[in-house]
Amino acid sequence: MHSEQVKAVHRAEVAELFERLGLREAFENSELQCRICRDVITSENFRAVTLLAGELVFYCTKWECPMSIVENLQDQRDEDD
Ligand SMILES: [Zn+2]
Repeated sequence: MHSEQVKAVHRAEVAELFERLGLREAFENSELQCRICRDVITSENFRAVTLLAGELVFYCTKWECPMSIVENLQDQRDEDD
């Protein structure tokens, strides 16, 4: 598939996802931020959404951002010992 087509599909899917989460407006108003680096989440840089302590949190596509999810889990495990 042509890479521009992939991007267009991805953008549509991201918009649909936020629509389903009831966050379409916040997303379009650039009110959603990456939990780690605080960059505004857009259809271009959106990587993941997850539920953390009952709150939806977002991660961008910078490699280090989702990586810190793993680090946090590691920290919690260390504290338990
Ligand atoms: Zn980020």
